[in-house]
Amino acid sequence: MPRSVASLQGQVALVTGASRGIGRAIALELAAAGAQVVVNYASSPEAAAAVVAEIKAAGGTAWSHQANVADEQQVEAMVKAVLETAGRLDVLVNNAGITRDGLLMRMKTADWQSVIDLNLTGVFLCTRAVSRSMLKARSGRIINITSVVALFGNPGQANYSAAKAGVIGLTRSTAAEFASRGVTVNAVAPGFIDSDMTKDLAKEPILASIPLGRMGQPEEVAGAVCFLAADPAAAYMTGQVLQVDGGMVMR
Ligand code: NAP
Repeated sequence: MPRSVASLQGQVALVTGASRGIGRAIALELAAAGAQVVVNYASSPEAAAAVVAEIKAAGGTAWSHQANVADEQQVEAMVKAVLETAGRLDVLVNNAGITRDGLLMRMKTADWQSVIDLNLTGVFLCTRAVSRSMLKARSGRIINITSVVALFGNPGQANYSAAKAGVIGLTRSTAAEFASRGVTVNAVAPGFIDSDMTKDLAKEPILASIPLGRMGQPEEVAGAVCFLAADPAAAYMTGQVLQVDGGMVMR
């Protein structure tokens, strides 16, 4: 399990899409920092159970919760269950995401809609569901996983880059709304990270566009997320987009 300098002892974190890839690494990192972690997943119960087992084997506390984050009722029920079980919810990481790539001219409306529904509306639904308890507690951290393609666009990813750009707007508006109640909202924009999502991409052109010359690892995104969750390390940051991209986008 990765080491962490931040302490999230006594806190409860919900990570969406935590059964695999970046979400899995975030769940492990937050647990290593002391948080009790809720491992959300959609369709991989065994993978989610393995993440929970790994956290428990390292002495942490975790449990899994199946929910489609694009489904309003399932999201509401998940957050209700977390609050009933743990009595609090301190950190929400909106990580669940999918791609349905294709050139815009031939993109099926269903592929546009499913990506917007999960990658953008899902973030809205989860954020709204946790907002009442966080605003009441006058503390909380919400961390949204966007992407560098939200910043520069990408052929074949009109749906995905639109959703991820939407997540940045959503992050900033929510940050402005929640700031007076001590709840921060930030985004992390990964570049190309080794995961199931990128395993079939042609690597050579990608590597040529990355100044650090390699794909990122899920743990490297998890480190940034853990920092944004940490107190007091990131207490004075809100509405920001932290890029973890090997230098792909320098502005
Ligand atoms: P991944 O390996 O494909 O994992 C996706 C995760 O999302 C899985 O845990 C999956 O759960 C979950 N998920 C899918 N549909 C869901 C739904 N309807 N409700 C709840 N969970 C759902 O992807 P990843 O590469 O780790 O990506 C994680 C996040 O980082 C995504 O938001 C992605 O857009 C973003 N990102 C990735 C990269 C990259 O290079 N990999 C770059 C920039 C941004 P199941 O296992 O149950 O299906």
